[in-house]
Amino acid sequence: MSAPAEPAAPDSVPELKQRIQELQAMLHSCKLSRVASNDEAVNELAASEERFALAVRGTNDGIWDWDIRTNEVFFSPRWKSMVGFAEDELENTFSTFEQLLHPDDHHRVLAVLNDYLSGKIPRYAVEFRFRHKDGSWRWILARGRALRDENGKPYRMAGSHTDVTERKHDEEELRHARQAAEAANSAKSVFLANMSHEIRTPMNGIIGMGELLLGTKLDDTQRQYLEMLKQSADSLLELLNDVLDFSKIEAGKMELDSHEFDLNAIVTDTVRAMSVRAYQKRLVLLHHISPEVPARLIGDDGRLRQILINLIGNAIKFTHKGGVTIEVGVESETADLIILHFKINDTGIGIAGDMHERIFEAFTQAEASTTRRYGGTGLGLAICRDLVELMHGRIWVESQPEVGSTFHFTIACGRTSGISIKPKTPRTDPVVTAHASMKVLVVEDGHVNQLVSARMLEKRGHIVTLASSGEEAIDFFNSNQFDAILMDVQMPGMNGLEATARIRQIEQTQGGHVPVVAMTANAMKGDRELCIAAGMDDYLAKPLRSAELFRAVEQFSRKAPLPPPARELNVAEPLPAPPPKDSAPFDAAAFRDSAGDEKLMRKLIAIFPEDSQKYLRKAEKALAAGKAQPLYEAAHSLKGMLGVYAAPRAFKLASELCEYAHAGDLKGAQLMYEQLKRESALLAEALVGFDPVI
Ligand code: ADP
Repeated sequence: MSAPAEPAAPDSVPELKQRIQELQAMLHSCKLSRVASNDEAVNELAASEERFALAVRGTNDGIWDWDIRTNEVFFSPRWKSMVGFAEDELENTFSTFEQLLHPDDHHRVLAVLNDYLSGKIPRYAVEFRFRHKDGSWRWILARGRALRDENGKPYRMAGSHTDVTERKHDEEELRHARQAAEAANSAKSVFLANMSHEIRTPMNGIIGMGELLLGTKLDDTQRQYLEMLKQSADSLLELLNDVLDFSKIEAGKMELDSHEFDLNAIVTDTVRAMSVRAYQKRLVLLHHISPEVPARLIGDDGRLRQILINLIGNAIKFTHKGGVTIEVGVESETADLIILHFKINDTGIGIAGDMHERIFEAFTQAEASTTRRYGGTGLGLAICRDLVELMHGRIWVESQPEVGSTFHFTIACGRTSGISIKPKTPRTDPVVTAHASMKVLVVEDGHVNQLVSARMLEKRGHIVTLASSGEEAIDFFNSNQFDAILMDVQMPGMNGLEATARIRQIEQTQGGHVPVVAMTANAMKGDRELCIAAGMDDYLAKPLRSAELFRAVEQFSRKAPLPPPARELNVAEPLPAPPPKDSAPFDAAAFRDSAGDEKLMRKLIAIFPEDSQKYLRKAEKALAAGKAQPLYEAAHSLKGMLGVYAAPRAFKLASELCEYAHAGDLKGAQLMYEQLKRESALLAEALVGFDPVI
C-alpha cells in the first residue's frame, strides 16, 4: 500500500468535515486491504482510531489539535459547547484559547505549556478556569501530547478538555466542611478546657465552705445533708478535673512538667492517700518497689500520681473482696533513660475480653450498668492512656471476669545527671546540726526556682517537698505536717495568695498555724502588704539568696532558739547591683553566688534553653492572642528564672515586659518581647560556653 499524498490543511469547517470523511473512507479501505495484505500495523491503527472515537464520545471531552507552525487549532464542537459556544462562534486560533482563560490562570497555564513543549516536564496536564458564554467560569482539565520532529522540536500538539467543575466544587465544599469541623472541634476543646477551669474556682469555694460548715455545730440531719452535699460537690469536681484534662489533651495543650522527683515518695504517698478507701471496703492494699528502681528520677511526678490515683481508684472501686497490689519494676534502661513498668493488680469483678481495648476510649465503660452501680464517666482510662503516651509509654490490661484485673503501664523517666538532691536529714548526716532540720513545703511553678530553692534547703539539711501549684500545695498541706511553707506568689491557677488564704481558712477549723513565706520576683511597693494581708508571715524577693532564705525559713524552727528580732524585709531591687563587665549577658560571679555549687550550675545551664523557650512561647502566644494576663504570667515567670542566672539585661527586659503587660500595652510589650527574645538567645549561647569549674 502506498502512502496517500498529504492534502492541504483544511481551513474551514465544511472542509474539515470533508476531510474527516475522506480519512474515514481511507480507513475503511485500509481495513479492506488489511484483510488482503494482513497488515498488522494498519490493523492496530484502525483499532486505536475506533477506541479513540469511542472514548471521546464516552467521556464527553472536547478535543483540540494545534498546528504549532501555523498557530491554527482545531476545536471540536464539544470543546466549544462546553463553554456555551456554537461551532461558528469561535475562531480556530490559539488566541481563542487564551481569551477564554481566566486572567489569574493565564500565566500559570502558559508556563506549564511552555515547560512541556521545551521538554522540562514529561506531561501536559493542567487545570484552569475557562469563561463560559454566560459569563460564569468552568473548571477545565486539559491534557495533551506533542508530536516532535527529528530535532525534538514540537510541530503539533493535540489533546482533550474535560469539564471538572463539579468535582472542583465538591472538593471545595469538602475542604470547607473539613475546616469548619476542625475549627468547631478545636473550639469545643478550648471551650471545654476554659469552662471546666472556670467552674473549678467556685467549686472549690463550695467544697471549702462545706468543709468549714462541717466543722461547726450541727444536728444529725444537717450533718447528713451536708455530707451528701459535699460528696456531690467532690464528685462534680472530680468530673470537672477529668473533663479539663481530657479537653486539654484533645486541644493539644497538655504539657508535661518534668523535674527530679522521688519515686518511692510518690508511690507511698499515693497508696497512703488511697488506703482510706481500701480500708472502708476491708480490702488489703499493698505496694512493692523493686530495689533496682533508682530513688530519684526525672519526670512529671504530678501526672504519674494522677495515673496511679486513677488506676488504684478503679481497682478499689471494682473490687469487693481480696485486695489491690501495686508493683513497680524496671522494664529496660539506657544511659540516660529508664523505662519503668507499673502493675496494678486487683481481685475484683474483672473485664470481659472484648472490652480490653475499648475501655481506654473516652466515655467507654465495660458495662452499661457501670455508671449506675459504680459511678464514673469513662474518662479516667482515656486520660491515663494519653498521659502514658505523653510519657513515651503504653498501657494495657490483662483481666478475667470474676477473677480480677491487672493494669500495666510503662513510662520513660530521665536519670538524674549524677547530682542527687536527696535530703540530708540530721539522722543520716549528723554534721548538719547547727540548726534543726525542718520539713519545708516549697510551692513554686517554675522549674528553675524549684531546683534552686530545693537544692539550697536540702544542702542545709532541711527536708523539702515540692508542689507546683496552689492546688497541689493545699493537697500536701492537708495530708502532711510542715514546719514552714515557701510560697511563690504568682502561679497559674490558684496563686500563692489564694493558696495561703485557703490554708488559713482550713487552720481556723483545725487549729495550728504553719508559717508561710512568700517568694516573688515582684519587688513592687505594696506587695508585702498584700502578702501579709493574705495571711503570710514573711516575704522574700527572688532571686533567692541562700542566707536570706535560711533566715526566713529557720526563724520558724520550733527546735531552734527564738528568731532574731525584726529586721529589714528584703523588698529592695533583688538583682546583684553591679552589671557585668564588657556587657556579657550574665554575671558569672553572681550566678555562682546564687547557684552555690558547680553541679547545680551545670543543671541550671542545661535546663535554661528549654525552660526559657517554654515561657517565651507562652508570651508569644499570649501576644498573638492579644491577651495581657497570660503575657504577664509568662513574663513574670521569665523574670523569676532570669534572676537566678544573674542576667541583668534579660531580667530588666522581662521586668519591663511585665509592666507593659500589666498596663495592657501590648504594642510596647511586643517590642519588649522581641528584645527579650534576642537577649535570651544571647544568654543561652553565653551559658553554653560557660564553664562553671573555673
Ligand atoms: P470510670 O471508672 O469513670 O467509669 P474509666 O475510664 O476509669 O472510667 O474506666 C472505664 C471502665 O473500665 C469502667 O467503667 C469499668 O467498666 C472498667 N474498669 C476499669 N478499671 C477496672 C477494674 N480495675 N476492674 C474492672 N473494671 C474496670
